[in-house]
Amino acid sequence: MVQIGFVGLGIMGRPMSKNLLKAGYPVRVFDLDKKAVADVVACGAAEAADCREIAAGSDVIITMLPNSPQVREVLCGRGGLLETARPGTVFVDMSSINPIASREIGAEAAKRGCAMIDAPVSGGEPKAIDGSLSIMCGGDRAVFDRVADILKVMGKNVTCCGGLGAGNTTKLANQIVVAVNIAALGEALMLGKRAGVDPETIFQAIRGGLAGSTVMEAKAPMMLAGDFKPGFKIALHIKDLNNVLEAGHAVGTPLPLTATVMEMMQWLRSQGKDVLDHSALVQYYERLAGTTVGKDAK
Ligand code: NAD
Repeated sequence: MVQIGFVGLGIMGRPMSKNLLKAGYPVRVFDLDKKAVADVVACGAAEAADCREIAAGSDVIITMLPNSPQVREVLCGRGGLLETARPGTVFVDMSSINPIASREIGAEAAKRGCAMIDAPVSGGEPKAIDGSLSIMCGGDRAVFDRVADILKVMGKNVTCCGGLGAGNTTKLANQIVVAVNIAALGEALMLGKRAGVDPETIFQAIRGGLAGSTVMEAKAPMMLAGDFKPGFKIALHIKDLNNVLEAGHAVGTPLPLTATVMEMMQWLRSQGKDVLDHSALVQYYERLAGTTVGKDAK
């Protein structure tokens, strides 16, 4: 049986690693947060004292960390996974990071005779729990094929999008569409409110037409209820849009809509609201208009 190492047991990594255990894979785990480790160990995982122990005993190592600097540190830093990884180890980085960093880290892995694919996810905690994430992968097709069955335990739609970094480029594309959609939804509902048409009625009237979307289904009810409990925090979306702007500018692609929504999110951060769900983008419009779209914000 393939031995799996798993580093990063946060909101996402915890349920993902538990699903691997449920599917019968032996999983060895590590996180700086000992409580998170204890929780997954209670479900049958083996505990590793550090990254060296993960690397020494694993054929496939999954990382689910916040951003590029943490992935770089965990793989390439002092005492990192690459110091003790056996040649032939496959790294599957499922964090949402900059695709440029994915390629750089993958090149370091290759120097040690290890392969890497990037495999960021979409779907959030509920889909991590029920194993139905969308997983967007990049890397060598033969390496992808070797880990596809493992990925299918955690996700429903598992797609190989191209070479290393293509998974994260696809994830960034996803994050542009989601951010701009949420902003447009806030703008539209505020128009209704100010023009005297009930925003709830607007939602019900347009959700089945061309404007309807998964984003609208998930976020309009939150805006209407003034309930911005995360979900996906503004702070994480700022992190992703930073990566969008950096990756886009590196290939000479102007990103005017992303830049605009990023500045709206920066206002939310300046108000200490980046801990809220990204549907709180509507609060930017509420501040400009001096009224709320739905009930008063919680
Ligand atoms: P999180 O902050 O809840 O978890 C990150 C975990 O990494 C924490 O447990 C932390 O202790 C651990 N960690 C950080 N540095 C470490 C290190 N050096 N060594 C060991 N462990 C370390 O984050 P999350 O919400 O689980 O997100 C993980 C990734 O998935 C991010 O890139 C995020 O953008 C992406 N993502 C999140 C969601 C979501 O809804 N939360 C949805 C899709 C994608």
